[in-house]
Amino acid sequence: RVKTKWASTRAKFPATALALQHFDATYQNYFGDLWPSVRVAMLSEQKYGALMNNFSSNADVISALRSQGCRDFVGDGEGDTHEISDGHPSPEVARIDPNIQCFVFPRGDISRFKPARPDSAGLLSYYLLDAASVLPVLALDVRPDQAVLDLCAGPGGKTLALLQTQAVRFLWANDLSGSRTARLQRTLQSYVPKELRGEDKIRVTSLDGRKWRNMEDLEFDRVLVDVPCTTDRHSLMEDENNIFKRSRTKERQMLPLLQMELLLAGLRATRRGGELVYSTCSLSQLQNECVVQQALSVAQQEMDITVQVQDLSSFTRLFSNTFPFAPQPALGQLVLPNLCANFGPIYLCKLLRVS
Ligand code: SAM
Repeated sequence: RVKTKWASTRAKFPATALALQHFDATYQNYFGDLWPSVRVAMLSEQKYGALMNNFSSNADVISALRSQGCRDFVGDGEGDTHEISDGHPSPEVARIDPNIQCFVFPRGDISRFKPARPDSAGLLSYYLLDAASVLPVLALDVRPDQAVLDLCAGPGGKTLALLQTQAVRFLWANDLSGSRTARLQRTLQSYVPKELRGEDKIRVTSLDGRKWRNMEDLEFDRVLVDVPCTTDRHSLMEDENNIFKRSRTKERQMLPLLQMELLLAGLRATRRGGELVYSTCSLSQLQNECVVQQALSVAQQEMDITVQVQDLSSFTRLFSNTFPFAPQPALGQLVLPNLCANFGPIYLCKLLRVS
């Protein structure tokens, strides 16, 4: 009989178990009857989407995906462009960027995508990611010739989705972590032609996003604040780099403060009349709605910044065949993991800087 050597040194309560305990204690109260199905989905294999790379020659790849039964959840029927004649979105129908395409297997189909292959120019045809993480980019609704800041950008999935709109005049992608910024650079190299990666078009930095105002005097039309969070799905599945490790308790408890500071920095960087999307991949009300609520009040009282929360209900209605959304949130929208459509969690809240 072979004894596993590491058994005696293995943590009694692995971080994944601590995460589950924590989620049971907090989410059961918040989600009530919905929690058991969300819980089982988060403990099961997650579903991916294939974000198509418009910079590569991908027509054959798209036909192959369609022949496997995949559909583009953005463009195929659900996310049509809806605009009234003066070019502004009506309050009832959201405008969806026609250039972002993300393929998914049908509901209940748990097939996996093959790794993307390079085209003749060496560019990869698609990027695999949680399909729900495309929603914050779609909600940001980048318009032609706009300057965009992606404050927490590594490893670059949403940065790449932003670039797919082909509307960005200048993109600043930032991430505090050097290794995540390096991954972001590699992502850009694998997906975006060199001539579109010049410093005048895309700038990549490794700065502390909280100090944005102190470093740069630029104002952006669109800002994405995709903050570090408890990454709920990862925390249930992987012990490595898990924020529920006892040694990281303090860091975890400080997350809402960090998130609020990043959101405030994002608001400072947004021009008046510009828009910002705040997003997480957590179900936590503390990291989602409470952070937004608190930031809005600090922005108003201490920074004289007035912000209007944008109603995303017509936006989420367009995608309700693909993603189950939580009924509760007051300010933003939350994709709930579900065994038939095992995406998310993704929380998103859209803000307009009024003054
Ligand atoms: N937007 C990315 C994507 O779609 O691939 C994922 C971003 S991840 C949820 C959050 C990121 O925030 C991490 O890469 C982390 O390194 C970064 N981060 C943490 N603290 C930060 C800070 N103070 N300033 C900027 N980035 C920070």
